Amino acid sequence: MNKSFDQSPCAKELSQVFAHIDSNKDLFVDRLLEYLRHPSISVENIGMEVVAELLVRMLSDLGFEAQMIQTPGCPVVMARWERVPGAPTVLLYGHYDVQPPDPLEAWVSPPFEPRIRDGRVYARGAGDNKGQHFAQILALESHLAVHGRLPCNVLFLLEGEEEVGSPNLAGFVRAHVDRLKSDLVVTADGPGHESGQPIITYGVRGIASFELRARAANRDVHSGNFGGVVPNPIWTLVHLLATMKNRDGEITIDGFYDDVVPPTDIERVAATSLRLEADHIKQEFGLIELDAPTDRPVADRLMFHPTFTINGFHGGYGGAGSKTVLPHEALVKCDARLVERQNPEDILAKMEAHVKKNAPGVEFVRTESTLPSKTPLDSPFSDVVQHAVYAAHGVEPLIYPTLPATLPDYVFTKLLGAPSFVIPYANYDEANHAPNENITIDCFLKGIRTGAALLDGLGRLAGS
Ligand SMILES: [Zn+2]
Repeated sequence: MNKSFDQSPCAKELSQVFAHIDSNKDLFVDRLLEYLRHPSISVENIGMEVVAELLVRMLSDLGFEAQMIQTPGCPVVMARWERVPGAPTVLLYGHYDVQPPDPLEAWVSPPFEPRIRDGRVYARGAGDNKGQHFAQILALESHLAVHGRLPCNVLFLLEGEEEVGSPNLAGFVRAHVDRLKSDLVVTADGPGHESGQPIITYGVRGIASFELRARAANRDVHSGNFGGVVPNPIWTLVHLLATMKNRDGEITIDGFYDDVVPPTDIERVAATSLRLEADHIKQEFGLIELDAPTDRPVADRLMFHPTFTINGFHGGYGGAGSKTVLPHEALVKCDARLVERQNPEDILAKMEAHVKKNAPGVEFVRTESTLPSKTPLDSPFSDVVQHAVYAAHGVEPLIYPTLPATLPDYVFTKLLGAPSFVIPYANYDEANHAPNENITIDCFLKGIRTGAALLDGLGRLAGS
């Protein structure tokens, strides 16, 4: 990005907050350890209400109007502090649920007995996501401690089901659109870049998953006695799949690409400057060549193009030696990663129509879908967000127009209509979802600084 980040040094108000963070850093780390002692494992429904109540207390103590709101699953914590007329309102999103900690024997120290080793806090949730939203809370606290007020209006939304796919988030947001109305959304989640350089992500790919189920005879039969007479459902799926994507990597479903919005010039420049190199990927995965089309830049493929992936193909005999069997059923699981403005429902309908036309006997079963999301790089809040990250780190952020993976970010961009920025506070090797999950103390403190700088920058917009 052609942006000059080295303009003014931090304004006095922000420097004072940074100084407060610095002089309280040991205390802040101790309090993080205390918070991490509370398990909140959504998939096993362990400790969810206890941690939700803890968060309500923490935010109420800061002067927020905070409450726990029940959903059909785990409760949501919602809190608001809106006392600066004319200033923007930022919605901070995080999740207080964590992954189950097993295998327990692989942990150096127990997952819910946080320990510090080599400048890192080790515990389940240290990075994903307690350490990150706790940093956001401490950013709020630090502003309030130093200045007695926040520079802008803040809503906090902490869900308890992110680790199980956020099944109730969209419904919750739809039901509370008025109460969640905000000018922008900022999420602190995910690991940072390998280099340690900070990241800001402006979008995510969506997903549409489905299964193809083929059946022929009512049981497996002898491939000699009945081969050539009884149809083979594996061949049925092989032929069908071959009509869905060609050797050039083109997805050959009618209308599949209709709604794809090509990247803007600034998105292309940002993607190119990430220097995602084909050679690096080949080396990492031991590949001779990349998937077709081989001439398309890696960043383009990961950010601006949809995919069609066969996740698994099951059927027939795969054991030792040979078995001359003609199987009677076969199953394929697939996903398509979608880009702005493809809609999973529309894509699944097109896929299903294709299957009906080319292999009418094959059953098409929808499994999962999430819309893609994208915030324009030239959003009116882009400069503030980028400068906040720069102010906290002293390093320019890497700008990802789109994350190749899927997050339910559309609930903010499409349901609330707000620009949405994801700023990972955790380290690249946070080991999220794995044993020995951790956050470096450096990342944790920079997270608090980033949160503080963001609030300060947003407050300045009101005066400008
Ligand atoms: Zn996670």
